[in-house]
Amino acid sequence: MVLVDKFGREITDVRISITDRCNYKCVYCRTGNEGALYADLPIADYLRMSRVLIGLGIRKVRITGGEPLLRKGVVDFVRELSRLRTPQGERLDIAMTTNGHLLAEMVQPLKDAGLDRVTVSMDAVDPDRFARITRVANGYDNVLAGIRAARQVGLSPVKVNCVLMRGFNEDQIIPFGMFAREEGVVVRFIEFMPLEEERVWSPDVVVTLDEIVRRMSEYRPLIEIAHERSETARRYRFDDGIGEIGIIAPVSHPFCGHCSRIRITSDGKIRTCLFSIWDHDLHGQMRRGASDAELAEFIRGVVQRKEQRHHIGEPDFVPASRTMVHIGG
Ligand code: SAM
Repeated sequence: MVLVDKFGREITDVRISITDRCNYKCVYCRTGNEGALYADLPIADYLRMSRVLIGLGIRKVRITGGEPLLRKGVVDFVRELSRLRTPQGERLDIAMTTNGHLLAEMVQPLKDAGLDRVTVSMDAVDPDRFARITRVANGYDNVLAGIRAARQVGLSPVKVNCVLMRGFNEDQIIPFGMFAREEGVVVRFIEFMPLEEERVWSPDVVVTLDEIVRRMSEYRPLIEIAHERSETARRYRFDDGIGEIGIIAPVSHPFCGHCSRIRITSDGKIRTCLFSIWDHDLHGQMRRGASDAELAEFIRGVVQRKEQRHHIGEPDFVPASRTMVHIGG
């Protein structure tokens, strides 16, 4: 069983947001207080959606938010997901994206429950700069401890996501190269996308793939390594074989043609693109009493409407109907 959209892209990955609350206020993402804008659903509802999606060919689930570690029941969700099997009898690949603030204390239970991989967001290796970007005073030590704890319990690879913004942290490129080598993590730089609440995006603020490669190469030569077609990041290793970095470049090198993802928001809407201007109410179908077969039919129809590509930076760009924190990155 495979889910294929009208452009022939196979949909194998889902990102599920289990809350849109967050305890950080990263400048490129969100403002406001910690409260949810949209409802969280019972964990059982996210599980049912996952089960139906797996029956349709989904093989990877990434749990996200908001901040997923704020959500009560997150460990149980991982445990239940790890018991599900694809139609071929295989277990899922279960990953999580987190700001890492609560990770050190939760990573062992998460690993025991069946989490395979974790990505931690960290936008500076300098504590003061980190506080300026996250707008949280005491976060740096927690996040570093979370990254180290994730390695210690054997989650592999541990990835660290860094959104680069000119004027904030572009001078962190080389320090992050050193960090990748010293800490044994894969650091992935992400080009800033217009998905933030404060509307500060402009092309000038984006630090592009070419610039990142150029600057990092001044520190040590990089060698590009092969990556899977549907992988979002271009991968590089340093010339001496120690340390790997990735660059996710949706603005300067879009990869929509290979996109294998859909997203489910914390309130149960399917989004077929980060930049969708509408979403599809899967939970509404559940509330109306739809059977699993009817949900599967609904999802198949939605996937057919997946956008061909985004239009960032083009004159006809229309902002997405939700910002990143309310979608699930
Ligand atoms: N709270 C978790 C975290 O911080 O990783 C998960 C949710 S967060 C929305 C998921 C990812 O989206 C993070 O790696 C974050 O850096 C990234 N992100 C948020 N806003 C972004 C933007 N405007 N452009 C690019 N990446 C963004």
